[in-house]
Amino acid sequence: MRRLLFLLCAFALPFGAVHARTAPSGGEVKNLIYMIGDGMGLAQVSLLMIERGYEPVAFDRAQNVALVSTYSANNRVTDSAAAGTALATGRKTDNGMLGQTPDGAPVESMIARAVREGRPTGEVVTSTLQHATPAAFYAHAADRDDDRTITEWLVRSGVDVLFGGGGGSFSDEQLAVLRDKGYRIVRDPDQLDAVSSGKVLGLFADGHLASARKGRGDYLPRATQKALEILDADARETGRGFLLMVEGSQIDWAGHDNDAELLLAEMTDFDRAVSAAMDFADEHPGTLVVVTADHETGGLSIPSNEEDFHLSDSGVQYDFSTGGHSGTLVPVYLYGTGAERINGILDNTELAQRLMQLLGLE
Ligand SMILES: [Zn+2]
Repeated sequence: MRRLLFLLCAFALPFGAVHARTAPSGGEVKNLIYMIGDGMGLAQVSLLMIERGYEPVAFDRAQNVALVSTYSANNRVTDSAAAGTALATGRKTDNGMLGQTPDGAPVESMIARAVREGRPTGEVVTSTLQHATPAAFYAHAADRDDDRTITEWLVRSGVDVLFGGGGGSFSDEQLAVLRDKGYRIVRDPDQLDAVSSGKVLGLFADGHLASARKGRGDYLPRATQKALEILDADARETGRGFLLMVEGSQIDWAGHDNDAELLLAEMTDFDRAVSAAMDFADEHPGTLVVVTADHETGGLSIPSNEEDFHLSDSGVQYDFSTGGHSGTLVPVYLYGTGAERINGILDNTELAQRLMQLLGLE
């Protein structure tokens, strides 16, 4: 489907990003906020910038950038399970697999290593918590759709803060086990106002959360802020830095649907969550924010509406070339302590390895 959005006011606005604040650099990286826009290629970020009239967005605040390749062990075009596994563990696997090599050997994620070392950890998503990207950080499964196995890994994960959907997959026994382990189980994001530390499982839908266009409201930026507040409190108590993974899960689905308007809504929402993470890094030296994607979805390109683009602007088109994923490089935006230490052209596995090195989680 061909979508057309006109932009007539761009040239009245100042070009170039404004970098209002600069987070502290140098020193030890204690906390990592790892933000994954599922299906978010450079064109998806460009769409956000164009539709915002080149007013500064959170991505403009990046202090460093890199590009990563995303191919999986068995396909030049990855799925979210293999790419999530690469970003979480630093190892390639086949499409459809989570937290294991193609021959079935389990591989440990950076979050699992952090849990083992007693560091506070969290995941915030807009899909189910058992979906490919979040699951790559705690599960080991040959099939990303093996919901029972993945939910069991989640119960055993030891991850302190878990906000997302997927509540319908937990048995009463599993919820009882989690309560015994000290988790508060919350079903409504408003109930989070009363939580400021400790283990908390937020199950805000039986399946996925609503889309950014259909009533999800400001869940993602708010849940990100709340997770940071809780993990920061736990980090102070334990004296250990934290790891938080945040996923803009539904950017991918807008790409699969070739729906530019939904894509803008999801990108706007994710941008607000990135902004919240960068604000946290401003206030908390030792925090590194890394924003990247598992792959690009939709094969989005942004040509001029007028084929003769030498003429004045007559709007742009958002053209999708596939209902699936593409094999293009995806961007990495870095902000905060250690941002200067990762750049260039990397493989997605290399990005994960470098982050684990920075965090002392090798
Ligand atoms: Zn996808």
